[in-house]
Amino acid sequence: MRAILLADGRPVLREVDAPRLGEGDVLVEMRACGLCGTDLEKISGRYTASQPVLGHEPAGVVAESLNPRVGRGVRVFAHHHVPCYECHYCVRGSPTMCPHYRATNLEPGGFSEYFRVPRFNVDRGGILTLPDHVSFEEGAMVEPLATVLRAQRRGGIQRGDSVLVVGAGPMGDLHIMAANHAGAGTIIASDISEYRLSFASSLGAHYVVRSDEGLPDEVRRLTDGRGADVSIVASGSPKAILAALKSTRKGGRIILFGVPYRGSTLDYDVSELLNNELSIIPSNAAVEEDTVQALELISQRKIDAAKIVTSRYSLEEFPQAVEDSLQGRIIKALIVNRKH
Ligand SMILES: [Zn+2]
Ligand SMILES: [Zn+2]
Repeated sequence: MRAILLADGRPVLREVDAPRLGEGDVLVEMRACGLCGTDLEKISGRYTASQPVLGHEPAGVVAESLNPRVGRGVRVFAHHHVPCYECHYCVRGSPTMCPHYRATNLEPGGFSEYFRVPRFNVDRGGILTLPDHVSFEEGAMVEPLATVLRAQRRGGIQRGDSVLVVGAGPMGDLHIMAANHAGAGTIIASDISEYRLSFASSLGAHYVVRSDEGLPDEVRRLTDGRGADVSIVASGSPKAILAALKSTRKGGRIILFGVPYRGSTLDYDVSELLNNELSIIPSNAAVEEDTVQALELISQRKIDAAKIVTSRYSLEEFPQAVEDSLQGRIIKALIVNRKH
């Protein structure tokens, strides 16, 4: 079978053996898998986590199952990281900090014709069945939407809140849609790209602001002089974090969502955090309650997450997907298995 693997930091399409299944494992034939910003960071060598496995937003069909929880031929979403749900971290509300959370992964990754889902994941609900009316493309949106839902839950978005989304890439767009669904009042999106801003408008952002044009002042103007109730940093850039800190109202919340490059630092007067009672809430990844909720919202057509997919590529076209994403020519790239 063919798979995109990282070799010396470059993604290459390789002919490899299909993964061998152990007891309780499941083999999935990939049909669609989103290209994530963290994949791009792994390719550029600037990602902070250790294991550089590419592709973690896959949907497909079960080709072989050694696990009674899922049968052959079932259309599924598969979650790459699953916590143990039993340890100190898990039972105290930090499941993504579970020491087991990143210990297992899809093998060899989501950008391959087939991948193995380890028993550890399957036994803990890491495989979800896609209803018939949910496409593979929509199934590939379960993981990214799940991370957004978890972040917004942690950030406590309330009905009527003004929400600033800094960074209107694909994840920022999902944040806009999810904030709308959560009943946010005013949603402001900022980015440096006009293309991304007009796309964000079409998805429900009420105002869009060029982030290089005095964002904090503009946000205050749009929020009766206060600043946003909640700011979501959907970019890894320290500039975006600073812009969010300065655009949030006193007593407001800043959700850190985008993954900063390794070694990023902030030049910020931290006395402002205390004086203004700003809460910084980081949110990293998602767990099963989030993937279940994401699939529910997609399935019930409450959040049309697949709207962010602007471009589709085969495994052979993977380098083009990376290039188009890095150049900002597209919003979200989806890798599809064109054998079907
Ligand atoms: Zn991702
Ligand atoms: Zn745990």
